[in-house]
Amino acid sequence: MKRLSYIKDLSCSVCGKLYSADKIQTICPECETPLMANYDLLSIKNQLDRDSVRCRPKGMWRWAELLPVSHQENIISLGEGDTPLLRLNHLGRELRLTNLYLKEEGLNPTGSFKARGLSAAVSKAKELGIYKMVIPSAGNAGGALAAYAARAKIDALIYMPKSSPSSNIMESMITGATVELVDGLIDTAGKYAGEKANSEGWFNMSTFREPYRVEGKKIMGYEIAESLGWKLPDLIIYPTGGGTGLVGMWKAFIELDKLGWLDTKIKPKMIAVQAEGCAPVVEAFNAGKKTCDFWENAHTLATGLCVPKSFADQIILKYIRESNGTAISVSDDEIIQSQRQLARREGIFSCPEGAATLAALDKLVKRGAIHPEETIILFNTGSGLKYINS
Ligand SMILES: *Cc1c(COP(=O)(O)O)cnc(C)c1O
Ligand SMILES: [Zn+2]
Repeated sequence: MKRLSYIKDLSCSVCGKLYSADKIQTICPECETPLMANYDLLSIKNQLDRDSVRCRPKGMWRWAELLPVSHQENIISLGEGDTPLLRLNHLGRELRLTNLYLKEEGLNPTGSFKARGLSAAVSKAKELGIYKMVIPSAGNAGGALAAYAARAKIDALIYMPKSSPSSNIMESMITGATVELVDGLIDTAGKYAGEKANSEGWFNMSTFREPYRVEGKKIMGYEIAESLGWKLPDLIIYPTGGGTGLVGMWKAFIELDKLGWLDTKIKPKMIAVQAEGCAPVVEAFNAGKKTCDFWENAHTLATGLCVPKSFADQIILKYIRESNGTAISVSDDEIIQSQRQLARREGIFSCPEGAATLAALDKLVKRGAIHPEETIILFNTGSGLKYINS
């Protein structure tokens, strides 16, 4: 049968060593760093017309050549992707910006963009014969794994902080997934998940410890390029926790460039937004460091940003710098204010993480760091409805 994917192999993000994409892979055992997927972009360039992708059935999987799954029957989809890129005219006018947009990821299955990464990773895992998966999650990743695992008939085990929004606990449990609530944050949940993976052979779906969640999230970059007529925005303001979306989109822009699909040479500045109560990337970026220090006593109401140290910290920092971007932190009060602004001015009930991107834009505008005509994309990574009883 025809292979959908043009994946070639995986390579270590540090030493470059190559690994087979037809076998189960986790991280580079030598460097203990993430593996990234490589595609035969030259063949795609020669065989696929960028505009023909638009005519396929809607959703993330219309980009199947650029995703890791070989056979159609292994794709586990709930309708993720192709979220709207909304123009923010009212907020734009107030901030004196003429090209302000928001990518509305709250419309994804399970109400957050975690659906993209887990659709890709669960599908590839199914293809490789994996039948039980464990994940540490601040909330939304657990809910998304639970949904896709149920649909794939794969067992799911989820370690979540006790403080996670109750909607995340409920959406996970109703699928039949096993949910373990832990004292502590995502890093504690991560330790338990790692132990379970080692002792009982559960496949670890933790961010960047498996190579394919980032592939699902990179499709946000393809969608943005297509929506803007194969141009890229000047700025992407992204709420950064584990960094999957930021790394994924930058990877997409590099791939798009190699595919010859872009009508521009200019790539966006990637702006990582974090919460003041947990800002390891901001601190490392400002200090000129290549890795993040573990952030002690992390706390913020934006649970998706409560990641004291990402496993992909080196790649996040490298890509922010490569893009000429920056990292910026906002307070929980500023997040709450921006959440209200988005709802009142534009009718968008965002999650706190999404609101953080507007709070960061406010700061950048006040600093005079933004030209009024620049094309700017904010990200609402999840629906505000998921946080109501948290
Ligand atoms: C996980 C999550 C984030 C952070 O995403 P990364 O791509 O891992 O940095 C942001 N917002 C929400 C709502 C999330 O669930
Ligand atoms: Zn390596």
